[in-house]
Amino acid sequence: MDAQPYTIVIAGGGTAGWMTAAALGQFLERGFRIRLVESEEIGTVGVGEATIPQIRLYLRALGLDEDAFLRATGGTLKLGIEFDGWRESGHRYMHAFGDIGRDVGMSPFQHLWLRARAGGFAKPLAAYSLNEIAARAGRVHRGDPITAPTIPPVPYAYHFDASLFARYLRRFAENRGVDRIEGRILKAEQDGDTGDVTALLLEGERRVEGDLFIDCTGFRGLLIEGALATGYESWTHWLPCDRALAVPTATAGAALPYTRAIARAAGWQWRIPLQHRVGNGLVYSSAFLSDDEAETTLLENVDFPRRQDVRQLHFTTGRRRKCWNRNVIAIGLASGFLEPLESTSIHLIQSAISRLLKLLPGRPIAEAERREYNRQADFEIKRIRDFLILHYHANQRQEPFWQACRDMALPDTLQAKLDLWRARGQIVREHEELFTEAGWFQVLAGQGVEASGWHPLADQIEQGELAEFLDTIEQLYTREASRYTPHDAFIAQHCAA
Ligand code: FAD
Repeated sequence: MDAQPYTIVIAGGGTAGWMTAAALGQFLERGFRIRLVESEEIGTVGVGEATIPQIRLYLRALGLDEDAFLRATGGTLKLGIEFDGWRESGHRYMHAFGDIGRDVGMSPFQHLWLRARAGGFAKPLAAYSLNEIAARAGRVHRGDPITAPTIPPVPYAYHFDASLFARYLRRFAENRGVDRIEGRILKAEQDGDTGDVTALLLEGERRVEGDLFIDCTGFRGLLIEGALATGYESWTHWLPCDRALAVPTATAGAALPYTRAIARAAGWQWRIPLQHRVGNGLVYSSAFLSDDEAETTLLENVDFPRRQDVRQLHFTTGRRRKCWNRNVIAIGLASGFLEPLESTSIHLIQSAISRLLKLLPGRPIAEAERREYNRQADFEIKRIRDFLILHYHANQRQEPFWQACRDMALPDTLQAKLDLWRARGQIVREHEELFTEAGWFQVLAGQGVEASGWHPLADQIEQGELAEFLDTIEQLYTREASRYTPHDAFIAQHCAA
């Protein structure tokens, strides 16, 4: 390491900026200087409340106490996402975290279920998901199973207030030596030969120099786009929603331990229960719904809204052509955007941070490091994109928006997944893909995509035995979930804000 500290400058202090600062502060103590520039006047996007279980790895890596974190962020537990009306009006299913049922020998559970369903003796998938049974009962649990050691632990994530999370991480990062600079960035100064960013120029004629710059300036992408003109690939032909309205409301009743995603005529509505409020929003396509109609739809479908609290956000779904360009790495909204249908944005921040730490460059940056980072980021976001498209495409709704989604041409990678499923119920997950076979299984079955067969391994078990096996799983999981703690009682006991 050179005598001069390697200076990493983070531009922007939203969820992405502070998550990055906290992690770099935690792991890069010697030989590094971490600085973060943010502008209170500009503020943050101010939404982003639902997560997936991987977030717990981030907390653990930083050594954060879960209850203290939940208390500080008004957090609740989340066992999955309910999709209401996505296949058709009145139909509901859940993408619950964790496995569904159990494999038998070499046969994955989905084949057993497909066979049993064809034989008329399978219940809906919900009966074989511990997480869904617990979620529907409004109960949560952490730690070892209660009734039988063979039952898997319940995976869970959180709903939390992202602004409070950023504030919490700011304290953590500053305690680990991260330097916060308040001020508006006017532009980036670049090296005349290489084009690398050399410094941020701030109002008041201040200059912040660095070796590596992390662009966390949100949709603006001040460095990755503003300075480096990296380019953006739009995916609106596959994910046509381009606007959202968000409105918080007061807490009404017990907080459900799951996120709700409710299909509407030209998009969908989210409902995310926190301790101190409920996060609500409508994601919609401006080609199919006017802003006024969107506001009416949202306000008619939430409890006690205040019109003055409604905020509008515009976005273009897609990704930056390179997340790492020259000596700038874009993390968070600056790197691309996928709507919060499967709560993946905060996860993408987390995985970008872990990728950055693994491929942390020195002086000079090797092209191979950049290329590998971009390859991984590209693969990750495209596979998540495909998963989201599936929710839209496989529907039986009547409105023009949904018909258009049904008629769209699919990415080859998604088409290949659908073909495999339809042929014989196969689900193949490549090693770096985020969503598991159980996740794909629940959404494929939930959206009503039919498989024409199953793997012959599922026929190796006698029919009566298979029926008994399915009943046993349901009974085991129902009994186990009935011993869990009501969500509100859990919060009151462990982490009330
Ligand atoms: P921002 O929050 O926009 O932060 C940008 C930062 O850059 C701010 O600090 C700002 O002050 C600073 N900045 C910008 N320009 C300048 C400048 N010139 N000078 C100085 N500072 C500057 N994610 C989830 O995981 N779950 C969800 O449920 C979820 N819901 C969402 C719903 C909607 C409608 C949207 C739009 C997003 C949602 N997200 C969700 C995504 C989530 O909000 C973001 O991923 C997350 O907040 C990260 O944002 P960010 O930090 O990249 O950007």
